[in-house]
Amino acid sequence: MSKNVLPDCAGCPLSPMERICVNRNGKGHKACPTLTKKALTEETRKEYQKEEVAEFARQASIQEAECYGGRGEKDAMLYPTKPRIQEICEFASKMGYRRLGLVFCEGLLKEGRLIAQILKAQGFEVVSAVCKVGSIPKEEIGIRQDEKICIGEYEPMCNPILQAKILNDSETDFNIAMGLCVGHDALFFKYADAPTTVLAVKDRVTGHNPLGVLYTAHSYYSKLWIKGFQSLHGT
Ligand code: SF4
Repeated sequence: MSKNVLPDCAGCPLSPMERICVNRNGKGHKACPTLTKKALTEETRKEYQKEEVAEFARQASIQEAECYGGRGEKDAMLYPTKPRIQEICEFASKMGYRRLGLVFCEGLLKEGRLIAQILKAQGFEVVSAVCKVGSIPKEEIGIRQDEKICIGEYEPMCNPILQAKILNDSETDFNIAMGLCVGHDALFFKYADAPTTVLAVKDRVTGHNPLGVLYTAHSYYSKLWIKGFQSLHGT
């Protein structure tokens, strides 16, 4: 198989039960990484045997299964049972984590406070840092007045590297990210020492539900199919 074929699970034409990644006797198409990336698969297997990874992966898998009801019942349908905040609390408890880091956006102050209160009610210590922490003016990263949200005003930058360093400095066991902007979230993940999960992602237009746009991509958001749609109507 050509090395130039890029892995393409998103374009897989097979139904779930026909797929080799789901069904041992299944099939794959020409860009199927289960078929084309066998050496990488073997290399990865070894990674899961590392002490620091093995228990994490095992508990994450147990947590995944526990989020379904109807398991093991004859002819029963699986059904979801746990919201993500519960999943996070349970996983953190399974791992024996005590000190959790919480990074959140200033636009979600109320939610950040609520999450911290809930985590504390569950017996965790919480270290939190908001996006504007450190109050470094945007000019320091080369932002012009016309590139600010509030043009002409003092505007601190989002500071995901400092958010990460504050959590690192407090030696958090596990971090939770909520509502960080695109790009700022990526920088936080890059600099955080502890593993990080995401409770919610920011989407200013949809009440933080980016999939809402996908569900309407063939109706109200059909502009998504037009190359360069970002420049349509100046938005
Ligand atoms: S691993 Fe192969 S079979 Fe599974 S979704 Fe990807 S392309 Fe399809």
